[in-house]
Amino acid sequence: MSLTAASDKDAYLAVDIGGTKISVGVISVTRLVLYESRIPTPEINVWEALAEQVSNALLWGARNDINFLACGVGCGGPMRLDDGVVSPLHIREWNNFPLVTEMQRLTTLDVILENDAKALVLAEYWSRTQSSDLAPPIMMSVLVSTGVGGGILADGRLLMGRSGNAGHIGHVIVQENGNECACGARGCLEAHISGPAIAREIGAPAATANFQTRVVAGTLLGQAIASVAATMDVTDVTVGGSVALGFGADFFEAAQVSARQHAGLSFLRDLTISPVADRSLAPLVGAAALAKYSVEHASRL
Ligand SMILES: [Zn+2]
Repeated sequence: MSLTAASDKDAYLAVDIGGTKISVGVISVTRLVLYESRIPTPEINVWEALAEQVSNALLWGARNDINFLACGVGCGGPMRLDDGVVSPLHIREWNNFPLVTEMQRLTTLDVILENDAKALVLAEYWSRTQSSDLAPPIMMSVLVSTGVGGGILADGRLLMGRSGNAGHIGHVIVQENGNECACGARGCLEAHISGPAIAREIGAPAATANFQTRVVAGTLLGQAIASVAATMDVTDVTVGGSVALGFGADFFEAAQVSARQHAGLSFLRDLTISPVADRSLAPLVGAAALAKYSVEHASRL
């Protein structure tokens, strides 16, 4: 129909493996969600459930003449990126599970695996660069859900660190002698504002937290963000994840006020904390962004 018709069929296969749900999508090169399915993360036979979802997406793609360029997978850690092996804390039966090998076998695509928080910042970057040429030189995204993670993008490149783990804002200490964290320390941000941490504190699902709890969580997030912002000279911070987005305006306002209170340096005057652009679709767009990033950089992340 038009000269661009062929590229309209170019898309990424996107997979997000979260603590509460698993999503599979087909995302066009223009960031449109063409197909999406999600299931609650099962207790057992997680791979079988995921494989069925992926197969359905591939079938849909075949019926619609989709040309898959690559597959991006966002997952909670820990993981060993070199081996494509994951041991997510929220999926007990996956202990050193060879996710990349299994996904490659199933899809016959190049599979790019990354931490879901790093995928989030790539989704945000994709959104910004699509709507404007003015993406900030450095930006950070924070994921507040089953765990608390972060990703930092500088000059269009993901900050990796020595072992690929840069961005772990969930383990910034926000309370002296605070809650015990899975990492072994006390008072980590994650030990206070992750979904399970809040559920433990209120004795009910995090989604039912009252105003006071939401404000306290937002305040702690703002405090941690202020520390990282000063370290990294970053003022553009977006936040996603089921807990953050579910807590909504009360949480974001508290985070903003707290971040400004704790960030006194003049270069942090514009420190802004806002929800991620694609809201609940951000994890899937992020997974697609991983594939896009990999194709564009033509090298391993
Ligand atoms: Zn910790």
